[in-house]
Amino acid sequence: MTTARLYRNAAGLAEIVEVLQPGDAILAGEVPMAALTEADRLRLLAYPASLARRARSRTEPDGLRIVYVVPDWATDEALAAAGRPYNLTPAGRTYRAQPDPESCDDSRAHHWEALFEAHVQELKDAAGNADIEVARASEFIGDEGFQAVLRCALRFPRQIAEAIQEAVPGVEIDDEPLVFAGAECRACASVRGTTAYDPDWDRAQFECDECGSRQEADIREQNYWVQEDVLRAAVVAALKPSVSMRRPGPYWDAREALTDSLLLLALGDAPQLPARLAPPILDSERGGVPLMDLVGMADEWEEDHAELP
Ligand SMILES: [Zn+2]
Repeated sequence: MTTARLYRNAAGLAEIVEVLQPGDAILAGEVPMAALTEADRLRLLAYPASLARRARSRTEPDGLRIVYVVPDWATDEALAAAGRPYNLTPAGRTYRAQPDPESCDDSRAHHWEALFEAHVQELKDAAGNADIEVARASEFIGDEGFQAVLRCALRFPRQIAEAIQEAVPGVEIDDEPLVFAGAECRACASVRGTTAYDPDWDRAQFECDECGSRQEADIREQNYWVQEDVLRAAVVAALKPSVSMRRPGPYWDAREALTDSLLLLALGDAPQLPARLAPPILDSERGGVPLMDLVGMADEWEEDHAELP
């Protein structure tokens, strides 16, 4: 298996700058569908800020592109079999169709996207000339790489299950249900139902178990639920970042290895795999450290675990 290089902690921040080119995209991560923890701020804000500051002279005049993705086609409402997190049955709604908890925006995805704007502003102040983008995962549906991963999920769930078994140590996965993506109902926005993909016409047919509607359309013309590792791989396929920020620890080693396996599976021989950059594990309940102070700590923290002073 091809595994992209992993850069870690302060030394990783210093080293990874050497691989950057002007205009490179950094996939900073998914916008959380919850308030940011201090560990989120370290990974999502302080690390990209430090990288942008270090890369400033190297990447002129274009600067870096720092990209955040709103996982609007993911959900926390799919049903997992007991002890089998990858045996999912589509249910409920995706984040783009779940109601906003405070009813001020169109959906839960758009609510947290709107609140993330304040963090983007904080990062702009700290990161200088970097170009910061917040994209919705669904916006990438026009990209061929994204479509290739989606088609793979719709057509070859068994191959995806095999990739999971290889990448995730000790994972239990049954022969069924094996569903990693499915359409969203145009009538009621539920994803509970059956999706059939027709490779001859590149169309997906969906039958909704919630309201009984049927729909059929080109795969580019529908909304979907996509399992989150598959969605991450699809976004990487579209964005082709040179660096992808990731969470620390062995659990995420496996999830990142799975992302790479899915890219190999969907894109064939030699996809461009991003280098990975991980911060230390930050065990802290406390919050509110000013971003520039957190950047200073990020630049000092050499160990795999860190604590706020
Ligand atoms: Zn429906």
